[in-house]
Amino acid sequence: MKQNSNFICKNCSYKVRISKSYAIVNRNHCPKCLFSIHLDKEVAGDRQSSCWGLMKPIGLTFKKTKPNKYNKKTGELMLVQKCLKCNKISLNRLASDDCYQELKKTFFNIKKISKQDRLKLNKHQIKLLDKKDFQEFRKQILGEP
Ligand SMILES: [Zn+2]
Ligand SMILES: [Zn+2]
Repeated sequence: MKQNSNFICKNCSYKVRISKSYAIVNRNHCPKCLFSIHLDKEVAGDRQSSCWGLMKPIGLTFKKTKPNKYNKKTGELMLVQKCLKCNKISLNRLASDDCYQELKKTFFNIKKISKQDRLKLNKHQIKLLDKKDFQEFRKQILGEP
């Protein structure tokens, strides 16, 4: 799979079209089901992994950012995915055309996270969003005040 080229989702078979107009580079997850393929080894976009397992969306988190005058508290919303083949956890940037219903489902997936995954997320210092973050989630996704 070439970077930034159209691809067919390995999970739901949706034809994912990559458009330059999306305010995002390195889009690699499906906007319909939010799955992607484990391609990156160390950093996002390196495409060095030989795993090629399906990456399942398991939750959402806020990117850790240093507060500045534009961004006082919360960082950018990120998708947390887990590889179904090798269990690698990775963070993925959202895109403007990601399905809101799927994102919402992923948000509430926190109730279904296994203990094993919870420990793994803790180790990576990834804190999944929970109910109290729902307003900020809607704000970032839907642009609500
Ligand atoms: Zn899909
Ligand atoms: Zn993998």
